[in-house]
Amino acid sequence: MKYKSCHLIEHGISINVDSIQACCLSREFNKGLLPIINKYENNKINWDLLFSVKKEQRKFQRNKDLPACEGCYNLREEDWDEDDYISFINFDHWSQCNSNCIYCGVQKNKPKTKNNVLNAVKELIKQGKFKNTGEITFQGGEPTVLKEFEPLLKLFLKAGSNVRIHSSGILFSRAIRDGLKQGNVSVVISPDSANKETYTRIKRVDKSNKVWDNIKHYRKGLNPDLAPNVKVKYIIIPGINDTLEEINEFFNKIKSYDIKSIIVDVEYTYANKNINKISPHVYMLMDYIENFAKENNINYDLYDSAKYADKSRNFAKTSDFSFDSFKTQFEKFRNENLLLFVNY
Ligand code: SF4
Ligand code: SF4
Repeated sequence: MKYKSCHLIEHGISINVDSIQACCLSREFNKGLLPIINKYENNKINWDLLFSVKKEQRKFQRNKDLPACEGCYNLREEDWDEDDYISFINFDHWSQCNSNCIYCGVQKNKPKTKNNVLNAVKELIKQGKFKNTGEITFQGGEPTVLKEFEPLLKLFLKAGSNVRIHSSGILFSRAIRDGLKQGNVSVVISPDSANKETYTRIKRVDKSNKVWDNIKHYRKGLNPDLAPNVKVKYIIIPGINDTLEEINEFFNKIKSYDIKSIIVDVEYTYANKNINKISPHVYMLMDYIENFAKENNINYDLYDSAKYADKSRNFAKTSDFSFDSFKTQFEKFRNENLLLFVNY
């Protein structure tokens, strides 16, 4: 049936530490995180209950946007099927991590419980209610320190799913490397800087060399078709890594490691606090990175806060990057907007 909805309202779940939502998108004004089950027990998910709640939500969405979803960029008019199955799963059910990023919402907001979900997920597959047509994502916490990470990954690779793994990159995972070589896995690592001091300031762990080394090793040995599956993310953190010197150092690293995919985000606290008054220098940085990606045949993508920032943008896209004039204008905007920086 044709109506406005989103793939996650229809067939998605995000498994959190103690609850299950349709997605992991936390947006401004308490939107996003459409709840499905408020509490599940260790390794027990009531799939019948989950599908009945999802059915109701889909029915509601056919007539009117669900309040949590109003205005979301993921909503689109499409001919949605009416079957009950799950094809998008986001694993977000642990908070342990080997990094300590200044902007981390996981460490601050997630309770430290130890729910396992492997058996519950096996049950979903056994019931024939999982389809491999969507995407599996690992968010976390850090997946490589999660005990059931490898069994879960194997389960989905066996089911022929595409899996996207967000990792700090501090530990090298053979399971990720094998999945990359097989072609169904992509890994997203967000060093946010190629500069060792800036990295340590952002991550509060001294692991810059290790992380870039692991990025290099994940990338090494992948053929050109699979190279974009190693995705390096740059979260623009105004006041910390938002200078042209920083970005140019990042570009050098990207080129020397032959990285073929860049993801840009704008730090969530900054973006959320300043959504309609994001400093133009942030947009200039986004355009600068996009232009670099285009010129070097690198995939370029935005993550959620950057998408929202881009949506509220009232600053024309930069097309002239002739360095002196670009630099002068960039620094003028940056200096004029110092008060918007977040005090981490
Ligand atoms: S908030 Fe957005 S992404 Fe999440 S379920 Fe609603 S429409 Fe989909
Ligand atoms: S890598 Fe992710 S989970 Fe770990 S501290 Fe950083 S933001 Fe938090």
